[in-house]
Amino acid sequence: MTEIAYIALGSNLDNPQQQVLQAITELDALPDTHITAVSPWYRSSPMGPSDQPDYINGIAELKTDLNPLPLLKALQAIEDAHQRVRQEHWGPRTLDLDMLLYGDQVIDHPELQVPHPGMATRNFVLFPLADIAPQLVLPNKTSLAELLENCPSEGIVRHSLGGICGTTG
Ligand code: ATP
Ligand code: CA
Ligand code: CA
Ligand code: CA
Repeated sequence: MTEIAYIALGSNLDNPQQQVLQAITELDALPDTHITAVSPWYRSSPMGPSDQPDYINGIAELKTDLNPLPLLKALQAIEDAHQRVRQEHWGPRTLDLDMLLYGDQVIDHPELQVPHPGMATRNFVLFPLADIAPQLVLPNKTSLAELLENCPSEGIVRHSLGGICGTTG
């Protein structure tokens, strides 16, 4: 069955803008999946270790017939193709793809929690999500608008990316 999934993209190594744009192409190329919206891009201060470059963050909306775990595996395969190296927790990376939402499903699996546990408090997730899905309501009935009311805007700016998102920072 076709579901709408929201994927958060982040990168702070090896030309982050190019990493996330390439990832958009790769997400669209997944089987039984296509991209229906891409948010504007944001530049954000790193979470966790601060001795690392700023991130580029954005959100892709997908329509997919892949089930959640196969979709997670596909996201991890794309991360691996970007030579992501896993070192310290929240350390720098070429590409991070987090599954924020999968339809209205709540998933609690050892390898996959949906909604993504961090999404409700992260401005670099909530801001771009609101750009493409302002009316969104989480499975627990909390609205994105409510989450945004309690979300600080420190450390994040809209980032222009050569017109790809039609906005300038
Ligand atoms: P955070 O999850 O807090 O944003 P991170 O993205 O740096 O941190 P990773 O090292 O990329 O964390 O992922 C660690 C594990 O998280 C993955 O191996 C994956 O199995 C698990 N995981 C659980 N839920 C999700 C999800 N919704 N999307 C992506 N990975 C998830
Ligand atoms: Ca496709
Ligand atoms: Ca993450
Ligand atoms: Ca991740």
